[in-house]
Amino acid sequence: MESEIKGKVVAITGASSGIGKAIALLLAKQGAKVVLGARRSDRLEEIVDFISKNDGQAVYAVTDVKSRRDLNSLVQLACDTYGRLDVMINNAGMSELSLIEELDVDGWEEMIDVNFKGTLYGIVAAIPVFREQGSGHIINIISTSGIKIVPMQGVYAATKNAVRTLSEGLRQESNGRWRVTGISPGVVQTEFVDNLKNAQIRDVIKEKMQTLAISPDAIASAVSFAIGQPSNIDVGDIVIRPSAQD
Ligand code: NDP
Repeated sequence: MESEIKGKVVAITGASSGIGKAIALLLAKQGAKVVLGARRSDRLEEIVDFISKNDGQAVYAVTDVKSRRDLNSLVQLACDTYGRLDVMINNAGMSELSLIEELDVDGWEEMIDVNFKGTLYGIVAAIPVFREQGSGHIINIISTSGIKIVPMQGVYAATKNAVRTLSEGLRQESNGRWRVTGISPGVVQTEFVDNLKNAQIRDVIKEKMQTLAISPDAIASAVSFAIGQPSNIDVGDIVIRPSAQD
């Protein structure tokens, strides 16, 4: 499996923490050349330094996935530095949890812009390169929130299910030219909940996470599995969650 990963050029959004960082570290260890995007340059610089000191290959570009231009620049960096792009991992995401009747329109727009439009922009940036190469792989990080719908997560789940639908549409259109994988994590121990605006909800979820959450390394392994398959095999959907999750 690792031989399929060695030498591949992989761009990852949201690579500065949590799942994106775990994916970057694992794939770099397995010989991929990783191209990291996120907004926090200090974090990205640390990760690139760590990978380089451990005989890996990595570069980064400050990237806000709300900007189509930033995503184009991230892919351009991959092509300029390593000559190609084999995998685009649309991982950057955020959530604002609230009841729909609270009408947090700003929060909804942020989730649509980052989770859905950010993924579209990643695809927009990658597909022209894949078309030219005749190969490529899009991996979208989705969520079990879109599988079991619960109160407070309706809009977040909707943005994730939009990505799920998009992934299948893109796969249907590929005719073997590129692979598309959707990975739906359950509760994972990351900084994800730290960014919730509502402190009360944040504390409740954080407490639940302490006992339930799995390591982001588990999601990184699933990504590695999908990339590591021979080129004629497309791993479509992976759901990966704590065994005790509802
Ligand atoms: P983290 O908060 O640890 O990581 C989120 C990453 O997204 C950070 O690197 C952050 O970087 C980046 N990000 C956020 N907004 C933007 C933006 N506008 N532009 C570029 N990067 C951005 O959380 P996770 O690692 O948990 O989240 C990764 C993905 O996993 C998300 O899509 C999330 O929805 C999904 N997920 C997480 C679950 C969990 O339980 N943790 C469960 C199911 C799915 P920076 O701030 O530096 O820009």
